[in-house]
Amino acid sequence: MSDFPIEQIRKDFPILDQIVYGKPLAYLDNGATTQKPLRMIEAINKIHREQNASIHRSVNFLSENMTTLYEEARTTVQKFIGAPKSSQIIFTSGATGSINLVAFSVGESMLKAGDEIILSTMEHHSNIVPWQMACERKGASLKIIPVTDEGELDMEAYGNLFSDRTRMVSVTHVSNVLGTINPVKEIVRIAHSHGVQVLLDGAQAVQHEPVNVVDLDCDFYVFSGHKIYGPTGIGVLYGKEELLEKLPPYQGGGDMIDQVTFEKTTYNQLPFKFEAGTTNFIGAIGLAESLNYLSSIGLDKIQRYEQELRDYATLKLSAIPQLKMYGTSADKAAVFSFILSNVHPYDTGLIIDKMGVAVRTGTHCAMPLMQRFGIHGTVRASFCFYNTTDEVDRLCDALNTVLDLMG
Ligand code: PMP
Repeated sequence: MSDFPIEQIRKDFPILDQIVYGKPLAYLDNGATTQKPLRMIEAINKIHREQNASIHRSVNFLSENMTTLYEEARTTVQKFIGAPKSSQIIFTSGATGSINLVAFSVGESMLKAGDEIILSTMEHHSNIVPWQMACERKGASLKIIPVTDEGELDMEAYGNLFSDRTRMVSVTHVSNVLGTINPVKEIVRIAHSHGVQVLLDGAQAVQHEPVNVVDLDCDFYVFSGHKIYGPTGIGVLYGKEELLEKLPPYQGGGDMIDQVTFEKTTYNQLPFKFEAGTTNFIGAIGLAESLNYLSSIGLDKIQRYEQELRDYATLKLSAIPQLKMYGTSADKAAVFSFILSNVHPYDTGLIIDKMGVAVRTGTHCAMPLMQRFGIHGTVRASFCFYNTTDEVDRLCDALNTVLDLMG
């Protein structure tokens, strides 16, 4: 494979170097959550040992220092996704928190009875249920972009879903089940030609390829810290400034206010208007450390290495005749959802776990997509830049053992 410094990179992730059930761990569940680089673990450790204090509210030395680090973290995220201003970066609890924020605030301020929201068949429940709840509150409805047999969005059908009642499009950048990389620039262009805003769910994209929100021209972009080698409980919402200015706050509490009286409250400026209460400031700083780590390697290099891994795994997995793959788009991330014939995905997952190969099984929080393919679940192996071709081989060997065992 390419000159990617894989040995050094694996050393940066101490958790990878361990034995489970007597076998070296092959962690192939990166779509669920990613492992953490040492420098992020140490940064968070240092904060807890030496620097912790609440942000924004105190005048003491530690608090001021922490506030500076938190706002620097915001700038790091801004630069990482190419946002014009750091005030357009809102820290949330994760992709789910970000989508709930937008769905609530858009729902309250823009949705009326009879309005329509466009989603796709391949959305994660996090990008379905918040919109469904908003629709139920307002008497609006969902319109769904179909998915082809290859696991791609049916773009012609998408274009035909628009009506004068369409208020929003919310779709995933990369499918957590199929790996499909959606043509999001085109999706945004078409929506804008109808005067409709677009939220892109980047939970499975931003860790695999360079993302520039200005280039995408999306109105909102969301992702989770824990899927991009950062801590859990932290996430990001990016929004266009004029839209964020117009949207009402999602939650009320400390920090999001300007003046409070019992008669009326006025709200703080961006981004604080959307950050009620004590935020996960240590998580934000940890996330920034992980993003800086990724930038030091280069997202373009990471993308290239993962593409090589994807091509290798595609070749090896397609050599197993009893394996049915879901998601065969040419433009896909190194995510593989499959079923071994006559073997329940759960059994497959359980058996290969005993061989040290960690995958996920089930519906992957995408029940409508399972219904589309007429299945109850899959095995999902999701790779990232610390995985190796050796681990692809170990996965394939383990799957062949399952087939031998289960007939
Ligand atoms: N969207 C997609 C595409 C995802 O894969 C996930 C996590 N599996 C989410 C949203 C939700 O992310 P979180 O649970 O971190 O909020």
